[in-house]
Amino acid sequence: MTGAELNPSDHPDHEIRKVAKRLVEQGWTLRKEGHWGRLYCPCDDGGCTTIPVAGTPRNPGQAAVKIARLAKRCPLKPGDPRRSLAGSPRENLSRRKEIGQ
Ligand SMILES: [Zn+2]
Repeated sequence: MTGAELNPSDHPDHEIRKVAKRLVEQGWTLRKEGHWGRLYCPCDDGGCTTIPVAGTPRNPGQAAVKIARLAKRCPLKPGDPRRSLAGSPRENLSRRKEIGQ
């Protein structure tokens, strides 16, 4: 289940807002999902990587650093075992498009 697109400036924490805003500017998509949202990388071959974004992380500074670190592994080569490790596979999105929902 993929939610509506979110604006990084909607996040309650300024450090996470900053890193999410930078990634969205680089082509990542932020969607409402899980405890707050999930970042989808700009690769359109599907199954590369997604990053969960907590709404109220215990340590926002650390969470922001982790998001930036996870973002650096994109793009992952096809067959890389880390693909989609952080979240649901991107193919869910394209499959839904095929069905036409
Ligand atoms: Zn990617």
